[in-house]
Amino acid sequence: MADELSVRLAAVHARIDRAEAASGRPPGDVTLLLATKTQPAATVRAAVLAHRASGVTRTLLLGENRVQELVAKAEELADLEVPYHLIGPLQTNKVNAALRYADSVDSVESLDLAQRLSARCVDREAPLEVMVQVNVSGEPTKHGVDPSGAVDLAVAVAALPGLRLTGLQTVGANSADEARVQGGYAVLARLRDEVVTSGAAGTADARALSMGMSGDLEAAIAEGATVVRIGTAVFGARG
Ligand SMILES: *Cc1c(COP(=O)(O)O)cnc(C)c1O
Repeated sequence: MADELSVRLAAVHARIDRAEAASGRPPGDVTLLLATKTQPAATVRAAVLAHRASGVTRTLLLGENRVQELVAKAEELADLEVPYHLIGPLQTNKVNAALRYADSVDSVESLDLAQRLSARCVDREAPLEVMVQVNVSGEPTKHGVDPSGAVDLAVAVAALPGLRLTGLQTVGANSADEARVQGGYAVLARLRDEVVTSGAAGTADARALSMGMSGDLEAAIAEGATVVRIGTAVFGARG
């Protein structure tokens, strides 16, 4: 298992390296977030250790879609000290559980959710890192705020106490049309630029763009992704 993970990880790093070079970005510029849904903690641990053993210096993060899975794995993996991001939708009745284990909530899609997070984080020593999720594809099955409301939401979130807005997340279009997929990533980058240049409190450093998955990380990096979220290309097809 460890060997297979090492081989797949190396292939992913090579793809990211090439995409960084193709857009004139320095090597290691893009962070690799391992999307660990359905993978047991032992497999996630093996992947983190394989990454460390490889000597690749690229920053690594872990990401979980569902709060239940985050709760089940994060404690077991805490000794690795890899930040765990919640990258899937957060129901209000799971906010407390999420906050126990998530180092960042990258899927904020409403002001109501942001206010609930803020209320619980306002007394923390360090603010909770959050991203606003945008639905750039318009696909009804996708989570996230509509692009037309994204800047307003991001500005409102950035102003809330207890939270620190780091950037925007999206799940790209589920399409074989590469131009369409990449066009969606360009939209997210433009919205990020609008947020960062808005002059509003707490927005100046919200430069992160979490976009791109196993099938389309090149298109995302070409449009400025700072984080790519990779599941199947590292762990294999989900059963
Ligand atoms: C599963 C998932 C990923 C990773 O997708 P792969 O195609 O397996 O690389 C990335 N982001 C989110 C939000 C996911 O749910």
